[in-house]
Amino acid sequence: MPNREKRDEILVQKYGGTSVATPERINQIAERISRTVTEYPRLVVVLSAMGKTTDELVTLANAVSRRPEGREMDLLLATGEQISVSLLGLALQNRGLPAISLTAPQCGIRTDGAFNIARIESIDTNRVEQELNAGRVVIVAGFQGMTRDQEITTLGRGGSDITGAALAAALKAVACEICTDVDGVMSADPNKVTNATLWPEISYEEAIEMASSGAKVLHPRAAEVCMAYKIPIHVRSSFHDGIGTWIRGEKDMVMEQAAVVGVSSDRNIAKVTLMEVPDRPGIAAQVFQDLAAQKISVRLIIQSASAEGLGRISFVLDEEYLSPLEDLIKTWIASGIARDGMVDRQVAKISIVGSRLASTPGLAARMFAVLAREGVNIDCISSSEMKIACVISENQLDQSVRSVHDEFFSGSGADVEAT
Ligand code: ADP
Ligand code: ASP
Ligand code: MG
Repeated sequence: MPNREKRDEILVQKYGGTSVATPERINQIAERISRTVTEYPRLVVVLSAMGKTTDELVTLANAVSRRPEGREMDLLLATGEQISVSLLGLALQNRGLPAISLTAPQCGIRTDGAFNIARIESIDTNRVEQELNAGRVVIVAGFQGMTRDQEITTLGRGGSDITGAALAAALKAVACEICTDVDGVMSADPNKVTNATLWPEISYEEAIEMASSGAKVLHPRAAEVCMAYKIPIHVRSSFHDGIGTWIRGEKDMVMEQAAVVGVSSDRNIAKVTLMEVPDRPGIAAQVFQDLAAQKISVRLIIQSASAEGLGRISFVLDEEYLSPLEDLIKTWIASGIARDGMVDRQVAKISIVGSRLASTPGLAARMFAVLAREGVNIDCISSSEMKIACVISENQLDQSVRSVHDEFFSGSGADVEAT
């Protein structure tokens, strides 16, 4: 029998696409949920679409449209999660477990109107609480929401994590479990670096930096929501009961000492260069205002020295933001902001993430020396206390990640305190 506290507490569990990829996997997850409810009877389960369903929907859209985006695209993409939640509902009911599947509109997830990259504004938890009170497992479609005008939106790729985190916050859940196809948050992507190590605990800040620099095991916005609402996150395997990684509260002593917690990479970036930009006040402001108006966030900005009153502005952004850029570049050229503009997609970013990086002498030098040994040219660099990131050529990324990881993590676990 669960103790009284656990009977009252709400647990939110989110399962990713690989975990529900086939009917067999859905049955396995149903089995796991049947065990979880004996401990946490008030259980909310958030699901992604099955396997590669969302990618397949994107491919379909590309087959009929040159630039599939906006309202119709979201209506299409949101269908993936409706399939997985209803199947899990059937599988649980088939086991005799009371369960109900709900789309995001049915469970009150209200977003803004930014199609494809919507943000959750509020969650009306009435329906979910009613269902929990009636003794049902509530299964919620991740990744989707509804605007005030009843339009369907999606939250951006990997967005089911955000649904899980936001529901956990709104329901004041005891934790948000992110159940996935790896053992937890590791020092690098274990599918690329075989000797990556598992962290039993990391801080919210470290998780956000790892995630936003490309470690897609957790969506950075999910970690941000949980940090703001003080909800512990437990990243763990969907397939076994290993310890996983806890992300919560204060920084743990173990992590306090480590300088580098991980090496992340991101190939879904592009570099935009504006050439022959007049060197006068207000130009950069105009460029970045135009980007902001399209809700495009930029990851790295470099303005190079000007010659004869003309300079160059480069910025790095996620590839998903590229489609409005063609038009923007045309506008900038037409209005004299730049003479020409170039988009380079063959770039990628490698980052080391941790604490006190910029203020620890020698760390950046070690990273750059490894890249130099590998014959890698560093295109742009950015550094902060929690991250040193380099933009490099995409075809040198995988080897670079392995070599930089070896530099900081070879031997026994984390490289503590750089000298
Ligand atoms: P899900 O479908 O469960 O949401 P994702 O594919 O979005 O899963 O995220 C899990 C993947 O994240 C893993 O399969 C792994 O390849 C990748 N990954 C990248 N960096 C890391 C890291 N530092 N630790 C663990 N996994 C990572
Ligand atoms: N199904 C969506 C995607 O593939 C959301 C998610 O998996 O989290 O991006
Ligand atoms: Mg994911």
